[in-house]
Amino acid sequence: MSLEPLRLRGRAAAPGLAAGPLARIVAATEENFHTGQPDVERAALKQAIDAAGAELAALAASETREAAEILEFQREMLGDGDLSAPALAEVEAGASALRAWKGALDAQIADYSAAKDEYFRARSADLVDLRDRVLRLISGNGQRASALPDKAILVAEDLAPSRFLEIDWKRSSGIALTAGSASSHVAMLARARGVPMVVGLGEIPAKDGALILLDGEQGEIEIAPSATRLADWRRNIAAFAQRRADEAGRAEAPAVTRSGRRIRAAVNIQGLEDLTPDAAHADGIGLVRTEFLFEAGLAPPSEADQLDVYRRILDWAAGRPVAIRTLDAGGDKPIRGVTFDGEANPFLGVRGLRLSLRRPDLFKAQLRALARAAASGDNLKVMLPMVTVPDELAEARRRLDVALAELSAEGLEARRPALGIMVEVPAAALAIDRFDAEFYSIGSNDLVQYVTACDRGAGELAGLADPLNPAVLELIRRTIAHGKAQGVPVSLCGDMAADPRYAPALLDCGLEEFSVPPMALGRLKAAIAGHG
Ligand code: PEP
Ligand code: MG
Repeated sequence: MSLEPLRLRGRAAAPGLAAGPLARIVAATEENFHTGQPDVERAALKQAIDAAGAELAALAASETREAAEILEFQREMLGDGDLSAPALAEVEAGASALRAWKGALDAQIADYSAAKDEYFRARSADLVDLRDRVLRLISGNGQRASALPDKAILVAEDLAPSRFLEIDWKRSSGIALTAGSASSHVAMLARARGVPMVVGLGEIPAKDGALILLDGEQGEIEIAPSATRLADWRRNIAAFAQRRADEAGRAEAPAVTRSGRRIRAAVNIQGLEDLTPDAAHADGIGLVRTEFLFEAGLAPPSEADQLDVYRRILDWAAGRPVAIRTLDAGGDKPIRGVTFDGEANPFLGVRGLRLSLRRPDLFKAQLRALARAAASGDNLKVMLPMVTVPDELAEARRRLDVALAELSAEGLEARRPALGIMVEVPAAALAIDRFDAEFYSIGSNDLVQYVTACDRGAGELAGLADPLNPAVLELIRRTIAHGKAQGVPVSLCGDMAADPRYAPALLDCGLEEFSVPPMALGRLKAAIAGHG
């Protein structure tokens, strides 16, 4: 008996076509790839514990003495057989590595937290850290990740950006989310990396291994297609790749409107891996999302680590302007140990610059690294996210002054980079003439979410979160007019810039610089060329 193919409609989140076997991804705290074989589970647990020990040793080697001592202490705890014995016993009794480790550690954490002795209570935080580090390694890495079949279409309710980054996208081919949103950060990453993605599909009635066709442009999936349909689909995949190659070809020419107006077309990147051949023809880098340098569970990148990345980005840009955004954690980009836990409304909470100003240690390291990177040329600009009032810009400027003074006292080469702001909070956009930044970059993703009061992660509200809402366009127009009056550049780096449907409205608002994921550069230039 052959199964009837079943078509499910969701919403398009990242363009592209894919075909492959379904593989469900669930949160690390649930039973994902439970093999049911104690030998395999035991090996997975031991491998994750060893890998966690190696991570701690590597981290300890790069840290200050005090931090290294804590990490060494954790490594010793991890190496103590008494810690892992209950988990290994659970595995022998048939539990998965994931459940056994979580159960055993949760029990010990509860004991330590209830201890009368302050010393033991304090150790429970170390156990939480060890629990999560090993869980992450069991669920995300090594044997478990390689357990995904080739060309897998990953199915989940939603996917955290950090989880996306752990997956080897050379081996997997697409994402189908039962919930999720096209404006989330994971969708943005999927678009940047060319991973086709559909969100809001609702329940997907298929088992692991079922063949799926995924259409990231129409926002659909098809379950159990016929052999002829699959053969057609493979031809469609090849045609899509050809179309992408044609678009990439269009990226080579400068962006010019029909009437000859030269528009700047820059790229958004999350890290060095996004500096692909697609990006080569950009007029610069309009946004570097530095929060992706911070890895969940690992120590924040040091000043030296950051300096190295920023210098390499500047080398790549070879004199073209580069806007590096300071840490924009929080909202839907929490970083354990850095952002605030338990906020009722994380998007309205301590995120972006608000967080950096409350974490002077992190902010200083980043400003020092940026000022040192700026020494090699005058093309580096520093961009502050989530600015609400001019005082925040003034405070950031003051902290930059302090960092520069300290670097000079230490005899380290540095230069003051231009300091600009993202315009993504309505209070800033409405009162933009109170700001005297050295450049402005409109963050339309957040601006749309705050102006329309629609959570950018709520796919259900996608229709209402319309970038062409006149209220949004009015704020964009105002910001551009203010930049022109001040004689400073204004760009737009939200996803709106990358959607050719919005290019005419943005050009009509007077926008002269767009910043888009490298893959969208050709498409953008074609849309600009079609405008009068
Ligand atoms: C934006 O809000 O438009 C933006 C570019 O920043 P992010 O998407 O990283 O919040
Ligand atoms: Mg934003």
